[in-house]
Amino acid sequence: MKIRAVLGCLIMPRPMYRSRGWRRIKKITPGGELIVHYEKRRPGKARCAICGRELHGVPSLRPYQLSKLAKTMKRPERIYGGVICPACLTRGLREAVRASLHTSKLTSPL
Ligand SMILES: [Zn+2]
Repeated sequence: MKIRAVLGCLIMPRPMYRSRGWRRIKKITPGGELIVHYEKRRPGKARCAICGRELHGVPSLRPYQLSKLAKTMKRPERIYGGVICPACLTRGLREAVRASLHTSKLTSPL
């Protein structure tokens, strides 16, 4: 078993797996053998479309892993959830309401 583990480290990986685009995950099989699994790296974290801050509650997974998640687990259940951060949303809503009040005052007949 031990010899196989040592030999396992010496085996040359396939050319595609020599790139650092692949994460290496060391696993020990039930037989005690050390093997290396390759996985694509995780994508970057989701960012706010306005200020660029990192968004919470949005998992950074590969699309095939995201497709397995429930819709409620993919983004916060708020308007523009997973697109803009709560601070930008609050500011945007306030500006929109203030702008609408301003225009309604100008156009009202009273
Ligand atoms: Zn923002």
